[in-house]
Amino acid sequence: MDFYNRDEESRLVSPDFNSKDEENEVSLRPKMLYDYIGQDKIKENLKVFIDASKMRGEALDHVLLYGPPGLGKTTLAGVIANELNVQIRITSGPAIVKPGDLAALLTNLNEGDILFIDEIHRLPRTTEEILYSAMEDYALDIIIGQGPSARSLRVDLPKFTLIGATTRAGQLTAPLRDRFGCLFRLELYTPEELGTIVTRSAGILGINIEQDGAMEIASRSRGTPRIANRLLKRTRDFSEVMGSGVITESDARMALARMDIDEFGLDNIDRLLLRTIITNYNGGPVGLETMAAAIGEEAVTIEDVYEPYLMQIGFLARTPRGRVVTNAVYSYFDMPAPGQQSMM
Ligand code: ADP
Repeated sequence: MDFYNRDEESRLVSPDFNSKDEENEVSLRPKMLYDYIGQDKIKENLKVFIDASKMRGEALDHVLLYGPPGLGKTTLAGVIANELNVQIRITSGPAIVKPGDLAALLTNLNEGDILFIDEIHRLPRTTEEILYSAMEDYALDIIIGQGPSARSLRVDLPKFTLIGATTRAGQLTAPLRDRFGCLFRLELYTPEELGTIVTRSAGILGINIEQDGAMEIASRSRGTPRIANRLLKRTRDFSEVMGSGVITESDARMALARMDIDEFGLDNIDRLLLRTIITNYNGGPVGLETMAAAIGEEAVTIEDVYEPYLMQIGFLARTPRGRVVTNAVYSYFDMPAPGQQSMM
């Protein structure tokens, strides 16, 4: 029997967007660079590129944002549009089925507009090829007719900016990746930055929260703003029903314990993953696919969703021979680490 909740829709520490996140989603998204918290290096560079493009009156160079889900790629694309004062059209790789879908989007843009393509690594190859000339020459090459009478027609496009977002930059083809002038890798947020995000979101949602309560939520949010906002909303429910109505540190602890999220931000699937590596594979190394099969998860989910955070907190390491757990995991489970066993 499977006791683990694998439903990503209801997994509280999943960084993927779910239907419950929609509540207040728009109001929580920062609109300008000054209220986009963290990612300082990216913001500094972006500010220069945005100012330069405004000074020259030219479209911003194409931007690729990559990093794990829930870190603010879509939000940042919106911020860039607001800073440039241009329109943004939002779509995603899997939503663009035929080359014609992309051609329609591109021809409807105005000069300077932004086209945001989320999950750009999932664009069908035939469609991706259309992007090459669109990005480089601001032109579309359309084939009219079939067979010997087919003709190629070049349609000029407005000078636009493509912002692509992906969780896996490694899966992008080289010709596509090379056409982006700015590549930014988003990093997991520090607990302090997430604390600021939680306090900011609480202010917008009218939630009373103490600094310690915000830090408690922040430190269990896996470096991910989307999770921080979600845990804030659910903690509010517990605090209103069972606590004081003001989220204190102890309210936050009680709520997070009820949600089965421990002080490291780990839930039962993380624990299953770590425990499996220890009990079935002696702590590793174990290959990604083998591990995925052992716990019944998809390899891509493990790679995109679980591993970045487990690596960030020093619980998991990737080696050429596979994944290994660190000694910190043995202390986490109160187990003797392999080197210590002989001494006992
Ligand atoms: P991604 O596109 O990378 O999956 P999103 O842009 O949808 O992530 O961000 C998820 C949520 O996290 C947004 O609703 C937003 O409210 C919040 N968020 C993301 N980045 C920040 C940030 N830097 N500052 C404040 N809130 C943020």
